[in-house]
Amino acid sequence: MGSFEEHSHRKNLFSVGKLSYAKGDRPPVACILCGVRDQDALVPNLTIFETDLSVVSVNLYPYNPGHIIIFPKRHITSYSELLEAEALDIHNLTQKCLSVLEKHWHVSGFNLGYNLGKNSGGSIPHIHQHIVPRFPNEAGFLDVFANTRVVIYEPYEMLKQLRKLWEDS
Ligand SMILES: [Zn+2]
Repeated sequence: MGSFEEHSHRKNLFSVGKLSYAKGDRPPVACILCGVRDQDALVPNLTIFETDLSVVSVNLYPYNPGHIIIFPKRHITSYSELLEAEALDIHNLTQKCLSVLEKHWHVSGFNLGYNLGKNSGGSIPHIHQHIVPRFPNEAGFLDVFANTRVVIYEPYEMLKQLRKLWEDS
C-alpha cells in the first residue's frame, strides 16, 4: 500500500477521457503495438517490461486499474501463428503480472484473455492478451483503498507504479 500513500494528497479523480488517444484519436501508425515495441514517438509508450519475444504494457485504454496487456513482438494477427516459445514467454510474464498485482495491489480476481477477430471486441489486430484486475465493487476501487481519493487509473501513473513493483519483485 505504501506506493499509494505518496499520492494521497490528490483530490481530483483522473478522467481517462482527457487523453486524446482515449477519445478516438488513434496514433497515426500502421500498428499501435508495433509502435509500442519500436518505441515510436507517435505512440504512447506504456511498456512495463520486455523480453526478447514479448512486451508487457499498461493497456492504452485501461478500463480498470492495473489493466495490462502482453503481446508478442512479432506482428501476428491470429492465435495459430503464436509460437510455442512466445506462448510460454507470455505465460511466464502473465504469472509475474498476477503475482505483482495480487501481492502489491491486493487484487483477488482477474479476467485473462484474447479478443480475436471480428465481433470479439478487439480493436487492434496485433494479438495481445489482456490482464484485467477485478475489484469487489468496480466503481469502488476507492473502497479498496479507503480514506484516499485516489484512483490509479491514469495510464502513466499506473505505468510508473507497475514498473517499480515489477523491478522490486
Ligand atoms: Zn503490430
